[in-house]
Amino acid sequence: MKIRYSISLLVAGVVSTLLDAEFFSIPSPGTDITAFLGPRLSSNAAIILPNQPNWANASARWQGYSIPTYQAVVEVSTEKDIQQTILFANNHSIPFIAIGGGHGYTTTMGRMKNGIGISLKRMKTIELDKNNNTAHFGPGLTNGEVLRGLEALGKRTATGNCECAGLGGLLLGGGKGLLQGRFGLVADNLVEARVVLANGSAITASINSNTDLFWALKGAGHNFGIVSEFHQRIYSSEPEEKWVVTESFFTQDKLEILVQIMNGLLDNGKTPYPVGLATFLGFMRSPERDSTKAVLRLLLIHPGSKKEAARLLQPFDSITPISRQTSVTKYTGVVKIIGVSDDGPGCRPPGARHSLPISLLSYNVDAMREAYTIFNNYTAQHEELSKSAVLFEGYSTQAVRAVAEESTAVSDRQFNILVGNFVHHSAAAIVAVEPAYLYGRKIRDVLFAGSGLGRLPAYVNYAYGDETVEQIYGDGWRMEKLRRLKKEYDPSERFNFYNPIV
Ligand SMILES: Cc1cc2nc3c(=O)[nH]c(=O)nc-3n(C[C@H](O)[C@H](O)[C@H](O)COP(=O)(O)OP(=O)(O)OC[C@H]3O[C@@H](n4cnc5c(N)ncnc54)[C@H](O)[C@@H]3O)c2cc1C
Repeated sequence: MKIRYSISLLVAGVVSTLLDAEFFSIPSPGTDITAFLGPRLSSNAAIILPNQPNWANASARWQGYSIPTYQAVVEVSTEKDIQQTILFANNHSIPFIAIGGGHGYTTTMGRMKNGIGISLKRMKTIELDKNNNTAHFGPGLTNGEVLRGLEALGKRTATGNCECAGLGGLLLGGGKGLLQGRFGLVADNLVEARVVLANGSAITASINSNTDLFWALKGAGHNFGIVSEFHQRIYSSEPEEKWVVTESFFTQDKLEILVQIMNGLLDNGKTPYPVGLATFLGFMRSPERDSTKAVLRLLLIHPGSKKEAARLLQPFDSITPISRQTSVTKYTGVVKIIGVSDDGPGCRPPGARHSLPISLLSYNVDAMREAYTIFNNYTAQHEELSKSAVLFEGYSTQAVRAVAEESTAVSDRQFNILVGNFVHHSAAAIVAVEPAYLYGRKIRDVLFAGSGLGRLPAYVNYAYGDETVEQIYGDGWRMEKLRRLKKEYDPSERFNFYNPIV
């Protein structure tokens, strides 16, 4: 029996969109998802079940371990499709989760069992506003699609670096990338979002409407709803601008001197890097470069002429590398060179990768040596961990710091270095997981001990899932506010699979 209803849903005092009485019908429990939901979805949507040939594609993830499992994936095409799917899931007490780019890798995602994946990948529009300063983005876009889509329109905006990661999950956690020194975090550029809440209602969040939710979306957004559209600030692209990328490999004995130079560029954590400069230092195994010890890979990325880059990066020249290669490219070409384009090694699934991150102001030379030693020993002793890497991502932060701390749910704006402590193990070999975790934790522990910080700051989008909520979202008033908003916007705690705040 179909129950028809026509109510304006009340979200703790917020009157939400009046749902269309004919369109939104509540299914009786046990109703088959295809039979009930299918006719209610838009013509471009699809319901995909595990026995269907396109299942592998619909449920694919970058991460191979501790992942959500689905009884169906609904590839939605409109906001109403999202609403319908949520109502169906609610009526059947089925858990659900949004799928943006499918690149989330926190272990907490594995808590969703046999649920419905609400895949946004058919929602990929980019629409410029008349003023040309903002654009509406479909929630299924990836970084690469935003990058290329805007480039074709003579525009650009803050995005993450890796082409394959989704705009949605990335933005809702803050979103770090090469342009952040100029434009701020990806979330800092959000001007408005359409959000479908856990009760199926759709609302607008902006500085004028549902302002608390708007605040929360920028940094803790995975906890509150499914964003069906992101309205973002955009900027003119600079087609003439060149970027210089130098990739060098060093033997491990150069670690201290490299770290000291980078600390010098940061005035030991007191100032950010010059706008645009990024340094990615990695510990990795590369037997063809050093057959016994892990090597150091250093990427120096800088906008401007080769001459300008050479002046800034001159201190590195005196250190003899195993190899060095400099490329000059346009902004959108950087991703290819650094290996994070759609076909690059950074984007390649499948694999079981975790990260136990920490953010830092500067490098503690002794802690870096200790971290290297742990990395070197573990990857030598555990063959299954040999694809692991510790990546120290140094970004400029001027525009990030220019945004008032209290104005968003992003808690840690001041840090210059994001450590992506990536543990890569074999998902099939479950015995590998314990040493993998312990090894990753040891590295995080020594970096934290050397940081002089009172609280371990863990970027939500890199987090492992063993962190406390305070480590991820900040403590004191931040957690109080987030908990209050959670009760208001998601009282039934349906959005609890991505480093949840409760
Ligand atoms: C190869 C790679 C490169 C990366 N590069 C960067 C980088 O340069 N900068 C950076 O900051 N981070 C980066 N990350 C981390 C990235 O921000 C997170 O992994 C993020 O969760 C990816 O989002 P997604 O949409 O692809 O993932 P998904 O797994 O689809 O989503 C992650 C979480 O967000 C939720 N979600 C997704 N879309 C929506 C939506 N529209 N509304 C509500 N909830 C939604 C999902 O339900 C899920 O809980 C990278 C990750 C990988 C794997």
